[in-house]
Amino acid sequence: MPVQVLPTFDREFSFLRGDAKKLLIEGEWVEAASGQTFPSINPSTGATIAHLAQGDARDADKAVAAARRAFEGPWSKVTPAERQWMIWRLADLVEENYEELRLLEVLDMGSPIGRSPEAGATRAVEVLRYYAGWATKIQGETIPNSVPGSVFSYTLREPVGVVAAIVPWNGPLSNALWKIAPVLATGCTMVLKPAEQASLTAIRLGELICESEIPDGVVNIVTGFGETVGAALASHHDVDKVAFTGSTVTGQHIVRAAAGNLKRVSLELGGKSPDIVFADADLDKAVPGAAMAVFGNSGQVCCAGTRLFVQRPVYDEFVARVSHFAGALRVGDSLDPATQIGPLVSAGQLDRVLGYLKLGPVEGARTTVGGERLTEGPLKDGYFVPPTVFADVTDDMRIARDEIFGPVACVLPFDTVPEVVARANRGVYGLGGGVWTRDVGKAHQVSAALKTGAVWVNGYLHFDAAVPFGGYKMSGWGNELGARSLDEYLNVKSVWITTD
Ligand code: ADP
Repeated sequence: MPVQVLPTFDREFSFLRGDAKKLLIEGEWVEAASGQTFPSINPSTGATIAHLAQGDARDADKAVAAARRAFEGPWSKVTPAERQWMIWRLADLVEENYEELRLLEVLDMGSPIGRSPEAGATRAVEVLRYYAGWATKIQGETIPNSVPGSVFSYTLREPVGVVAAIVPWNGPLSNALWKIAPVLATGCTMVLKPAEQASLTAIRLGELICESEIPDGVVNIVTGFGETVGAALASHHDVDKVAFTGSTVTGQHIVRAAAGNLKRVSLELGGKSPDIVFADADLDKAVPGAAMAVFGNSGQVCCAGTRLFVQRPVYDEFVARVSHFAGALRVGDSLDPATQIGPLVSAGQLDRVLGYLKLGPVEGARTTVGGERLTEGPLKDGYFVPPTVFADVTDDMRIARDEIFGPVACVLPFDTVPEVVARANRGVYGLGGGVWTRDVGKAHQVSAALKTGAVWVNGYLHFDAAVPFGGYKMSGWGNELGARSLDEYLNVKSVWITTD
């Protein structure tokens, strides 16, 4: 199928013209061993926008070997201060090229172009700058010990080695940077495996890395499918750590695959996050806030506030207002600046979400808005599902338990604080949580009681490079962002010096 380049964005999309995108191994762009490619699809139109090299285990092998050579060779001789400046320079390159990266992301995965572009740029660039600062601050401790005689002890924090970073498609640029930045700061090397649905920003990032001073082989990029490249990396005996973001089921595959050489694993997985609206909340803020906590990025957010618990006295009003808000959101092509809700990422994701849209009413939920794919007009070829609200949902329904990963809110009534805390904590996930109330005591109590890695009070989905993010229960292992995330990429060594 020919590649479609949108004429209005001709200049920006020169990146999309030409041959299939290649793999980045040791600073060279190379074809996949298979010689095969796969298409990248624009989910707004169903059109093919590029072709990508279809890597497999042979390419994973080459990339891991390159990362190992870089780790033991040139990269090990780079000083912390030099690493800092290399990361800073990469941040500058990302900033200078952000518009193009953003456009690629819009075309590749369908997040609307009008969606807070400045915030996105800041987030992408700030993650790199935040970790650039850490490169010079990774230090051990001198620890007094009680061993008889003169024995001096201290610790070193050393890079774990070769990291396989396996990332999803729902925010491809930040998904990649949240891994690249700490890898570089800690002195590790990596093989990045972007998601097959949205790999273009990773390739463009790879070009920027080649332009930067970062030595060849420090960041290698292998595109391809999860079952081939991803699985090969997860089970590879010369990979020291897997940093994974994606579904809980795939996280379980990765843990099993990693058992072969007991490589380190960090996981940022799925969720079914409770968002609790108390009767004393400011509904003028809670309605749009809670709605966008579910519908933003078409619900394709791991910590989306999909279980909306609403206290009985304001339940009917809230359902009416959130349904009205959802119905007024503008669904459209992700390149249209007026679009608030873009398409789902792929035909596969569309099928999955449509399955849940059918299931909701069968389980007894009441659809107050949305509920069906858009099949008419200019959006008919894309993967569009309008914001959907299911009211009168109960805890045992599958729509209330499964991660749907689409613009689908489940609204559940509740009466008391202990009841809602117990119900919110039910289930296998523990990623995000929300609380809407004017009572500061209740806000603290409920935040403490929720078994989730993040709680947002009177707001939702705030992120910052300095603040850790991670999941409880089956939502993950370890943290990303913040100072603690560095430990995910470091080993601690104790050194004992006998001095007499
Ligand atoms: P989704 O179902 O939302 O696409 P996944 O968890 O399957 O989420 O995908 C996240 C990332 O994991 C992608 O890069 C994908 O290619 C990769 N992946 C999928 N299956 C495996 C696997 N068995 N082993 C390793 N990586 C995988």
